[in-house]
Amino acid sequence: QAKRLGKNRAERFDEHLRDGAQRRFGIAAALRRAIDADNGEITVHYQPIIDLAAQRLVGVEALARWTHPEMGSVSPGDFVPVAEETGLITPLARLVLRRALGDVARWRRQPGGADLFVAVNMSALDLREPSLADAVGELLDELGLPGEALHLELTESAVMADPAQALGMLDALKLLGPSIAIDDFGTGYSSLAYLHRLPVDTIKIDREFVHALDDDSTALIEAIVALAGALGLPVVAEGVETEDQAAILGRLGVPLAQGFLFGRPTPGDIIDELVAVRAPAQPGNAGGTVHHR
Ligand code: C2E
Ligand code: MG
Ligand code: MG
Ligand code: MG
Repeated sequence: QAKRLGKNRAERFDEHLRDGAQRRFGIAAALRRAIDADNGEITVHYQPIIDLAAQRLVGVEALARWTHPEMGSVSPGDFVPVAEETGLITPLARLVLRRALGDVARWRRQPGGADLFVAVNMSALDLREPSLADAVGELLDELGLPGEALHLELTESAVMADPAQALGMLDALKLLGPSIAIDDFGTGYSSLAYLHRLPVDTIKIDREFVHALDDDSTALIEAIVALAGALGLPVVAEGVETEDQAAILGRLGVPLAQGFLFGRPTPGDIIDELVAVRAPAQPGNAGGTVHHR
């Protein structure tokens, strides 16, 4: 078969490696340019996070987007790992933080938006950057924002890469007021002993467990909710796509949810409109609830 393809396995493997490495190299160079030039290729989209009982918008998650003039839209699944490998994640994180905090400051000035938060994803490398806490503090001051307007999302692996170091950084960040969430919970492996010691405020259940609800398997979510309850932590369910999933999550006592059912990640000006309908009901304004589509 190798002959038929005209190449032996080792050659094909080499080629695959080279393509992979070349692709990553190309992405890294283009990403560096996009970040340095801040030329509008990188944007931040926001996905609603909903209080299930009240059916109300409580915050949004900031998600980086990159549209390259030739490559088109590059998914975070492709460019975030490259940014992590090359150290570009540090300027990227600052760019996302600055935009996200600027946008949440605007929403909080809108009627009905006063208590909204924005959740920003942080990588393991961001936690190792000693100036992160200062940068967050300066941005909050500059924008006149209380720390609670910011949530920071960290995956289990980001925290477990160097737990002692993560603990130090999270303690420093916590002094500024942001809430800390463990992202994609249940997909990595984190030591419960450490989770208990970290200043964590929320657990985000990975969408894998939400989608398992379609096969009547509620056991894992129930276990995670019970565990979070024992640790005194509220949970957010990710990847909620159907009314059935939302109903089951509500019955299981999950307070917050996020997913395509409630809204896809969208540009910030769409969130302006969601905040406007969230304002207290006035004559001629249904107000308050987010309408499912
Ligand atoms: P994440 O933090 O777990 O973000 C949630 C991902 O799930 C997003 O993918 C979102 O679009 C997707 N999602 C939301 N609702 C649903 C749903 O109902 N169904 C399905 N199938 N998917 C849903 P996205 O935007 O492609 O981001 C992927 C990952 O890239 C993020 O996962 C996060 O780990 C990373 N990422 C994105 N932006 C940043 C950033 O600014 N900094 C860092 N460090 N990582 C980022
Ligand atoms: Mg996240
Ligand atoms: Mg997540
Ligand atoms: Mg996830």
